Amino acid sequence: MDQPDIRVRLGVRPIINVSGTMTALGSSIVVPEAIEAVAAVLGQFVEVDDLQRRASRVIARLCRAEAGFVTASCAGALTICVAAAMTGADLLAIERLPDAGGLKNEVIIQAGHMVAYGAPVEQGIRLAGARVVMVGQATATRAYQLAGAVTANTAAAMYVVSHHTVQHGMIGLPAFVAAMHDRGVPVIVDAASEYDLRGFLDAGADLVCYSSHKFLGGPTGGIVAGGKDLVRAAYLQNRGIGRGMKVGKEGIAGTIAALEAWERRDHAAVRERETTALHRWREVLDGRPGVTTVVLPDPTDNPLDRLQVWLDPQGAHITAWDLADRLGSGALPVIVRDHEIELGFFLMDPCNLHPGEAELVAGRLREELDRAQASNTTIATPIAGRGLARTQALLSWPD
Ligand SMILES: *Cc1c(COP(=O)(O)O)cnc(C)c1O
Repeated sequence: MDQPDIRVRLGVRPIINVSGTMTALGSSIVVPEAIEAVAAVLGQFVEVDDLQRRASRVIARLCRAEAGFVTASCAGALTICVAAAMTGADLLAIERLPDAGGLKNEVIIQAGHMVAYGAPVEQGIRLAGARVVMVGQATATRAYQLAGAVTANTAAAMYVVSHHTVQHGMIGLPAFVAAMHDRGVPVIVDAASEYDLRGFLDAGADLVCYSSHKFLGGPTGGIVAGGKDLVRAAYLQNRGIGRGMKVGKEGIAGTIAALEAWERRDHAAVRERETTALHRWREVLDGRPGVTTVVLPDPTDNPLDRLQVWLDPQGAHITAWDLADRLGSGALPVIVRDHEIELGFFLMDPCNLHPGEAELVAGRLREELDRAQASNTTIATPIAGRGLARTQALLSWPD
């Protein structure tokens, strides 16, 4: 017998997510192995240091690292890693943070990496009591700028791998690591959304942080992996600023299960399913007046394509943002990826679909585009109001 949809029981809208692994939409579909582990551990006591030792072994194997552990989130992991680079294993210094008196406290980051994933990357650095040292300009960093940023107070350098960052003009990870290691500075990589569990440590990074709840399909959590001394120093932050970022037994057990499931997953079959969804949506969209589609590879080389849907309001009788808003409303809301929508396109991400949903999405595209086509006027709400309306809605929460 089918359980009623929990979303209906909770009085929230059932949505279909073609936006991606977004915190605001519930991140990802947690894999059955992780759901089972979470449910099994919740009713039991465990010695958390031992459970984290077990996590360390799994993370070490999958990430080709010396050690690792699980924390509340990748955002928390990054703050904890910065703290680790500042305090090492000094328990008194750990308790004193975010007072960084007497500690190295500068963290280097390229200007083009100073993005927000929902919160600013640089705030997560400052949260540890560190000071952010930005190098280069938004669209370019030069080797002399990076080298010249290192001082006697440099604690670490942060490197962000994400579709959010500027994708050109940056110093790549191998050269970044070489410049920092020449000067004795450890490198922390934010790889929250990256499928590659080994490449960043292989490229010389000292610590790398991932999200459990994104591509892995784990429960909410963050993964730290790297060299044993720094990982231990990061783990010890649970006695200090890491306490507010603590993970529960269910997050640790669920992350272990998600990592083990990742090892066994038929990645080719997943890719095939995603590709089939993209083709289906293209069939519905291509040939319509004012609609152009492009299959876009992921900008950071994750093995994932998205469908870019361009709208020419003249032909389609609707703007990209009006179509996105209409798809996201009604009885079957479909949430598209709209980060750059003012440019006239949205993206459709196929990696969070339940069976049958690709077809429902195809139906919604057809329905809304047919309706717009039949309209005598072009549906074109001024874009300027869209962001303002969203901020207004946020500021009036919980109303
Ligand atoms: C999602 C994301 C984060 C935050 O990860 P959480 O685990 O949700 O805290 C940090 N950095 C980047 C680049 C991200 O995409």
